[in-house]
Amino acid sequence: MKKLLVHSASQLVTVSSGRGKLGGSDMRCVDVLQAEKGRGLSLVVDAQGLIEGIDYDDVIARAYGNCQFQNTVDATGHCVIPGFVDAHTHPVWAGDRLHEFSMKLEGATYMEIHQAGGGIHYTVDHTRNASDDELFKGLCGRLRQMLQAGTTLVECKSGYGLEAETELKQLRVIDRARMELPVDISSTFLGAHAVPKGKSSEEATNDVLNVQLPRLKSLMDNGDLKVDNIDVFCEKGVFDLQQSGRILQAGKSIGLNLNFHGEEITQLKSAEMGADLGALAISHLEEISDDGISAMAQSGSVAVVLPTTAYILRLKPPPVRKMIDEGIAVALGSDFNPNAYCLSMPMVMHLACILFRMSMSESLAAATINAAAALGKEDTHGSLEVGKVGNMVILETDRWENIIYQFGCQEKLIKYVITHGNVVWQNF
Ligand SMILES: [Zn+2]
Repeated sequence: MKKLLVHSASQLVTVSSGRGKLGGSDMRCVDVLQAEKGRGLSLVVDAQGLIEGIDYDDVIARAYGNCQFQNTVDATGHCVIPGFVDAHTHPVWAGDRLHEFSMKLEGATYMEIHQAGGGIHYTVDHTRNASDDELFKGLCGRLRQMLQAGTTLVECKSGYGLEAETELKQLRVIDRARMELPVDISSTFLGAHAVPKGKSSEEATNDVLNVQLPRLKSLMDNGDLKVDNIDVFCEKGVFDLQQSGRILQAGKSIGLNLNFHGEEITQLKSAEMGADLGALAISHLEEISDDGISAMAQSGSVAVVLPTTAYILRLKPPPVRKMIDEGIAVALGSDFNPNAYCLSMPMVMHLACILFRMSMSESLAAATINAAAALGKEDTHGSLEVGKVGNMVILETDRWENIIYQFGCQEKLIKYVITHGNVVWQNF
């Protein structure tokens, strides 16, 4: 018995058929199969949740005429697109920062917020005091909202503990969500997100290297915890280039992918450093230099750009057009965190088009195959291809571009969200 048959679709947006991640000008044109008059499009997911067939209805009907399906979806007049991949989120925390948003709108400066007990340390204090269950409950609510907005693979960072106990608690909570929720997760250790109160950055670096990472490694070695990536906030006044490099190298030596925050506010040549270390991805890059762009183009590191941050913090946008011109594969993330509360990749894609001057094709490639590549999962996720995981979104429109054009309308447009061939969200 096969898991799923989707039939009669108007468009099947495969995004990248046999092309892998899309760098540079290849992002300009995502792959789309278009229904012909009287001939819709079908997709079959096998019993293991993998895509087994994609073709016109009559071809699939002939090949699978005698097959039974657990579930059949009539997609007449609809588009099928890959599930979105959110390449950068901070979703495990307690204590929202609504009050701070309000203060900022009133014109409060960073220092005023800091003096009022705000900023990342407010979240760290609340997260340290929260139980596993409280954090899990918060994370589940956020992941469900992401799923309903079409995200089927999401990167989730720790980073609100800044000491071993709470960082591991966050990673445990992410691991539990990976097992209990129908969304695919890539887990990231971010013990070096900020310098904890009362420590110097050198002391914090040593704590990550000598306390946090060894404990993480032993849990990973025993099979008690699965972690995929290591991150560090490489920034002036936080972790400098040399400290960041030491942390990333230590992560690499225990088998973690390098995927870190670089060149956000100050240009430190962290793009060059990441390219040298073979980073899978570098996020932010608002201040990347021309040399940094060339280095990333050469190394094949994915540039994860974050339009919600540029929008909410009113930062200078990263030079995305130049990155694409130089051949870099650009990916998108929501950067969901207490300071940027956005869970919706359709809204992120729209903001990327407007703020970063990306085309709709480029935005979709960035929110699917390239975001999967930023997590080392381009072989299994991010496009609709035979052999890949059956993660997809079915849109109630015959033109896929509407999911970007109709800003904030994803609730109306998203009819089904499917992961591993199972319908996990249906909008009646
Ligand atoms: Zn971030």
